[in-house]
Amino acid sequence: MQTESIMVNMNRKDTSASRLLAKDNLLFLSEASNILNSSLDYNATLVSVADLIVSNIADFCIIDLMERNGHIRRVAVKDADSHLNTFAQQMYNYPPNPKVKGAIYDAARSGKAILIPFAEEEWLKQVAYSEELQIIRRLGLNSHMFVPLKSRGRVIGVLTFASRSSAPFTKEDVVLAEELAVRAGIAVDNARLYKEAQDAVRARDEFLSIASHELKTPLTSILLQLQIVLGSIRKESSEIPTKRLETMLENTEQQSKKLSKLINDLLNISLITTGRLTLDKEKVNFPNLVKDILRRYEEQIKKSNYDVTTEIRNNIFGCWDKVRIEQVISNLISNAIKYGDRKPISIQVNKRNNQALFIIKDNGIGITSPFQKQIFERFARGVSPKHYRGLGVGLYISKNIIEAHGGSIKVKSVLRKGSLFSVELPLKN
Ligand code: ADP
Repeated sequence: MQTESIMVNMNRKDTSASRLLAKDNLLFLSEASNILNSSLDYNATLVSVADLIVSNIADFCIIDLMERNGHIRRVAVKDADSHLNTFAQQMYNYPPNPKVKGAIYDAARSGKAILIPFAEEEWLKQVAYSEELQIIRRLGLNSHMFVPLKSRGRVIGVLTFASRSSAPFTKEDVVLAEELAVRAGIAVDNARLYKEAQDAVRARDEFLSIASHELKTPLTSILLQLQIVLGSIRKESSEIPTKRLETMLENTEQQSKKLSKLINDLLNISLITTGRLTLDKEKVNFPNLVKDILRRYEEQIKKSNYDVTTEIRNNIFGCWDKVRIEQVISNLISNAIKYGDRKPISIQVNKRNNQALFIIKDNGIGITSPFQKQIFERFARGVSPKHYRGLGVGLYISKNIIEAHGGSIKVKSVLRKGSLFSVELPLKN
């Protein structure tokens, strides 16, 4: 038989397609609905979909789901033959390639099922990596269907069905596979939404617990200092020497500032998540702003014994929200101090292609490559709270502020070698 790729687009309201569903198939689909609706557990739902496919329609199946960034991620692989199943799991190593035509990505893009009644060598060589081809050959798969998974009017993934049988898949099989995909799409989407909601609640609870702890620490210190001062004033006899009083009040002031920053962070998160972050723009002398902030960190830099070098070019003016840009720069500087491992830090302020540029490089603990991808997300923390305090929101707020100005913030880092954060802000707004 010739290789024949057919884009199948059957309208579900079309009675001719519905008629293709035999009574047995309707029974199977009704049972499938019951199974798929029985759990909201994400992993259990994926297992059910794969089981339903390999027990009723195909010898082998793959479930690929669409990520928010448009990439497709492999989430399940199953072979009906338990002896071959372990070997089949190697298909996880070959995620779908967006450049390959006539397979998974095409089914996702077009929203239409693709039927390959018989996979000839030539077609296989086009769609599979050479190692993947070996696996397909060893599994003896020769007929394929790529069926989009849809929910709420969008494609959320693709189901791959494959068969070892000498009788190839037909258009009737596609109809059945599409009907199953309709039910599976809704079940997987619901399970995914439920999981995301659960994860979000867990992250929020964790955040609330860390936030309360972070708020309590400076507050306890403030209360303690105030109690000592008050206690001393009330006892007429004992006086605290002025110098000691000054130190105590300075300490209280410092802790109050910490508290105010934390509350400010919490307020900013609520403004960002509710889309109410507004900018109060004015003319900003960028080099002066950075120098002012650095002056505020002088004491801390000295105390931690940091060697900070700066290269600040003058005459860079932007029209920005000064307070918010100050918050971003302060956050990057305080992170470099916090995570910089007391090794040299360099700061650069420059102008390039009508953009103001701020670069801060430390030689500290660095960030693993997987975490670099999440670093600007809300509540993302790559360090143990035992060693480093923080809420994991500074970079999230910074990114939102910079993007609200039409700019960008990026990170480059090597674990245990250091990190480089760069901010670009448009000079003309
Ligand atoms: P926080 O510092 O409060 O945790 P941030 O949003 O500022 O929150 O940073 C998020 C995470 O990014 C930190 O927990 C840390 O793992 C990592 N990080 C940020 N800046 C650096 C840096 N300069 N070096 C190494 N890791 C960093």
